[in-house]
Amino acid sequence: MSETARPDPIRPDATADPAAPHALRRLASVALDALADGAAARGGPLPAGGPEAVAARTRARCVPILPEEGLPVEEALYGVARAAAEGAADPSAPHCVAHLHTPPLAVAAAADLAASALNPSMDSWDQAPAAAVVEDEVTAVLARLVYAGRPAPDAVITSGGTESNLVALLLFRERALAAGARAPRVFVGANAHHSVRRAAWLLGLPEPVVVDCPGGRMDPAALGRALAAHAGRDGSPALVAATAGTTDEGLVDPLPELAEVARAHGAELHVDAAYGGPLLFSERLAPRLAGIEHAVSVTYDLHKLGWQPVAAGVLAVADTALLEPLSLTADYLNADDDTEAGLPDLLGRSIRTSRRPDALKIAATLRALGRRGMGGAVEHCVGVAEEFARAVDAHPALRRHAGSPGISTVLFRPVAADALAATAGEEAGDELVAGIRRELLAEGRAVLGRARVADGDGRRRLWLKVTLLHPRTTAADLDALLKLVAERAENPAPAGTGH
Ligand SMILES: *Cc1c(COP(=O)(O)O)cnc(C)c1O
Repeated sequence: MSETARPDPIRPDATADPAAPHALRRLASVALDALADGAAARGGPLPAGGPEAVAARTRARCVPILPEEGLPVEEALYGVARAAAEGAADPSAPHCVAHLHTPPLAVAAAADLAASALNPSMDSWDQAPAAAVVEDEVTAVLARLVYAGRPAPDAVITSGGTESNLVALLLFRERALAAGARAPRVFVGANAHHSVRRAAWLLGLPEPVVVDCPGGRMDPAALGRALAAHAGRDGSPALVAATAGTTDEGLVDPLPELAEVARAHGAELHVDAAYGGPLLFSERLAPRLAGIEHAVSVTYDLHKLGWQPVAAGVLAVADTALLEPLSLTADYLNADDDTEAGLPDLLGRSIRTSRRPDALKIAATLRALGRRGMGGAVEHCVGVAEEFARAVDAHPALRRHAGSPGISTVLFRPVAADALAATAGEEAGDELVAGIRRELLAEGRAVLGRARVADGDGRRRLWLKVTLLHPRTTAADLDALLKLVAERAENPAPAGTGH
C-alpha cells in the first residue's frame, strides 16, 4: 500500500462533529466490526466459563484503562467494544430470556448514535431547541396512550421505572403537603417492584403498607381493609401503587376493582406499568389494562416492551398541572425574563439537570413502526409466550406455573424437581432448579431467570422464568431451550458444580 492510500490516523481528541462526521463514521464502523467479531467469538447468548473466565478475557482486552500514553484510537475502541460484545449477555439472542432486558431495535440504536453525536441536553432550550420539540411531541403521544379521554394529560421522560415511581411518589407527597395533610401514606402490593418501597424511603415517607396478593395480584378486599385501617378516617392522604405487569410473573393487578376501592376510600391510584404499559399500543391487548385511566400517574418503560436501548422511561400523569411541583427556576437555565420572552422552560420536566435526549430514539421507533407495528410487536411477544406455555404443557418432563403466562413471562420447573422435593424435601427440589439455571449460565448456553412464587398448594417454590421480549423470536426457536432444560433435569450436575 502506498503512503497516500493510508487514511489519516484519527486523532483521539477528534470530536463527533455532526457537520463533519468522518471520524465518527470510521469509528462507528470499527465499533460495528468489534460487535460482530465479539458476538462470533461468544457463539451463544452469554459468554462461557462463568465470572472468572469472563473477567480474565475482558481485562486482557481493555486493561490498563488509563495507560500513561494513549493507544491508537481504533485500537482502544475496538478492544473495549470487542470485550463488551464477546462477554455480553445478548438480548438479541433467542435464548437470552431471563429479565426484562430487551433487544434494542436497530432504528433506536442508530437514533441514539445521532443523539450522542449531537448531545443535546434536555435541561434548557438553548442546549436542545429541536430535541425539546421532539420530546414535547413524544410525551404528548405517550400521555394520550394512557389518558385518551382527558383534556390535558402529560408525560415526562425518565431513566426508567425506578425514577418514574420515585417522581410519582414525590408528586403525591407534594400534593399531600400542599393540602396541609400530615401523614401521606403509600399502599403497595406484596407483588410490587422494590423501587416503590425505595422511593418512599428516599422521600422520607412512612414505610408503605403492604397489601396481600393471593395468586400474585393485589386483592381489592385486602386493600379496602388496609385503607380502612390506616387512612381515610383521619383524612391522611393515601396513594395506592398497583402493578400492571409484575416483574416476576407479568401479572396485572385488577385495576378497575382497585380503582373503585381507592376511590371509595378517598385514596389516589398510581399504576406501575413499567412492563405492561406498552400493551396499550395493541387494540387487542389494551383491554387487559382497563382501569389504568383512573390512575393519577402511570409508570411505563420503553426499554422493556418497546425495544429501546436503556434508558427510555415514561411517567404519564392525568393532567399536566400535576407536574407543577417539579417546576424550578435556575437563572442560568430558565431565567424568568427568558421564559417571558418565549424561550421554553425545560427544567421542570425532570428531577435531573443534564439529561440525554431519549425522546429521539423513541420518536424514530414510533414513526418507523407506527401504532400498528408497535402493537403487533407486543402481540408477537405475548403470542410467543402463550405458545411457549403450551409447549411446556406438552412436555412430559416440565410443569408450567398455573399463573403463567403473564404478559410475556412464563414460569416452569422440571417435574424432576417436584419428585426430588417429595423424597428429599422442598429445598432439594429448589436446588435442582437453581442448579440448572447456573449450569446453563456457566456454559453460556441459555440465560434463564428465576422466581420464587407460590405454587397451587400455597408453597413458595423456585421456578425457572422466561421473559419473552424479542420481536422476531418464534416458539420454535425456544424448543431447543426446553429440550436443554429437560436434559439437565434428567442428568443434573453434581452439587457444587456449575458455580
Ligand atoms: C423493571 C421494573 C421497574 C424498574 O424499572 P427500571 O427501568 O429498571 O428502573 C419498576 N417496576 C416494574 C414493575 C418493573 O418491571
